[in-house]
This record gives sequence, structure tokens and C-alpha cells, in this order.
Amino acid sequence: MITLGKDEIAKYPFLADAGQYLKDKGFTLQQFGTDPDLRLSVDKALNRVLVSADGKIYKSDLIDGEASKEYILEREVFSFLLAIVLLKLTGMTTLIKRFALAEARRAEKFLEKDLGNISDESKKELAIKIIDDLFSIQIKKQDDFFIIPIANYLTHSINFHEREWKLINRHVENGFVFLTSHETVRLIRKELGNYISSKILNAKTPSMISGFEEPVEKLISLSKKFVTHTVSTGEYPPCIKHAIEVLEKGENLPHSGRFMLATFLLAKNQPVEQIAPLFKNAPDYNERVTLYQLNHLAGSSGSGTQYACPSCEKLKTQNLCFAIPECDNIFNPLQFGKKRK
Ligand code: SF4
Repeated sequence: MITLGKDEIAKYPFLADAGQYLKDKGFTLQQFGTDPDLRLSVDKALNRVLVSADGKIYKSDLIDGEASKEYILEREVFSFLLAIVLLKLTGMTTLIKRFALAEARRAEKFLEKDLGNISDESKKELAIKIIDDLFSIQIKKQDDFFIIPIANYLTHSINFHEREWKLINRHVENGFVFLTSHETVRLIRKELGNYISSKILNAKTPSMISGFEEPVEKLISLSKKFVTHTVSTGEYPPCIKHAIEVLEKGENLPHSGRFMLATFLLAKNQPVEQIAPLFKNAPDYNERVTLYQLNHLAGSSGSGTQYACPSCEKLKTQNLCFAIPECDNIFNPLQFGKKRK
């Protein structure tokens, strides 16, 4: 169990025991719906969710990770806890995933700053403890770097496909991988997002609270924007169907899965404009970036090379294969339904 100071709860509110925090402060959820002074925290919570739905990171009132006034600190934590209540009442997984990812990115900034804190050893120690407690990564400081055991590094970097994350391109000494504070925190971004979203998904859904109806309605109508109407042809191979299902649920599809899906659909002559909406439920969706990447894969921008759909063998190594008997004897998802033994 991590003991958090007041500033730390505002920076890492997902580590707090929500019910206990409210109780300790002497409030009930019902009071937030009716008391005009507490109402501000509900508005702030709604804003926190809206900003995350827009793919941005909520800007808190903390200055350098600290609050100038006690009430600012409390409102920071309240707005996080109330955002979870609003999300639970809304019941939209897509909004929860987006919120979790945005909150993970927000916490990432604080973790990076705390890790690199040279004037306050306790902040660095706490950041190291948080990462160890949540993700079992044993970090040590060595000169200007943070070092972690190779096995830890390999477990957590498995979904990174950029060259700089390959072990061969890292500085390794005596069984430890050397990372900057930025890289250390980047390594756990996805897992931090998953940790926050599973905490929210597993939290109990309260009954509707008087005064919360309006923000909940607002979020429900916003979430309609993220509903996709994908028609499954029934001819897609299981790996592709699975990738589409993951996106429809608003869950995060790894980069390799997005690459597979996009190159498969492009090879089936689906236009970029038709493929892009499939990704709009992804927690980190950005329309402009998605269209740019699809055009790049299609060869209509950049080098002009159209990227090929990966082989079944490659997809198996990336845990993207969900083979069924009909997959027997094919080498590429594009052959599914065509080639028979
Ligand atoms: S065998 Fe190939 S086509 Fe079938 S699920 Fe695996 S990757 Fe997809």
C-alpha cells in the first residue's frame, strides 16, 4: 500500500481510495449534486471527461505539481472521483477508455518530473515505488539514468515496435537496461492506462444522484459520436474480425494490430475514408493523424510504397492470430476463404 501526501493524491488520484477520501473529508456524493459550493467540482469533473473524450489532457490547477491552496487540492481530487461517478452513470466504455488514457498521460508527466527530481529525494523514491507496486518494475538510479533488469524491460517493451526500443539498440550493462526518466515512464504508459480503466470498470455503479442528471445526459449524447456502424462481411479471417471487435469496444489495439487491419483492408481495395472511421473508438484517436497514416500505408503519400499485410507467421508472433480450422494451410490473412487444402 502506497502512502500518499496531499499533493501526491492530487497528482495520482487513481491511487486513492475514493470512498474513504470522501468520507475523510466529510462529504457524501449526494451533497455534490445539491450544494452550490460543491457543484463546481461536478462541473470540473464533467470538463475533465469532455477534454479526455476530445483526445486531450486535462489541465489541472496544480502549479509544478503543487496546489497553492488547500481547497484547490481537494477540488482536484474531487473532480477525478466525480468524473468516475459520471462515467459509471453514463456506462460508456469508450468514454472510460479515453478518460483512462488521458489520465495516464497526465500522471505520466508528474511521474517523469518526480523521477528526475534532484532536490527532493522523497519524490523520486515515491515515483519509483509507484512504478514498482503497480507494474513490478524494479528501478534503480545510476548516475543520470534509471536502470531496470533486462527481463523487466523485455516484458514491458514487448508492444513497442520502434527501432529504438529493441534491446539491441539500448545501452545494457551487467544485466540492466539504461533509460532516461522520460523513457522509464513511457514504458508503462499503456499499462497505466489499462490500470486506470480497469479500476473504473470494476468500480461499483452508483444509482443516479439528484443533480447529476444533466452532465450524465450530456455525456451520453456525446458518446453517440463514437458509435461505429461496422458491417462484418463474415468473410474476414478471425484475426481481422478480432481487431475490429477490439476497436468497436473502444479498447486499445496495439500498433501492430492497427497495421495489420489497415493493410488488410487497403489490399481489399477499401478506400482510406472508409477505413478511418473504424479507428475512431480508439482511446488515442486523432482523425488527421489516422488519415495521414492510412495514406502513407496505401502509398498515396510519402515514398509511394504500398505496405503489405503481414504474414500469418508474423501475426502469430505478435499475438494477433486467432486461427480456426478454415485458416489451415494459408500464409497470409488475404488468402482466407480462397485457398483450400
Ligand atoms: S492463421 Fe492467418 S488468417 Fe488465420 S487468424 Fe491467424 S493470422 Fe489470421
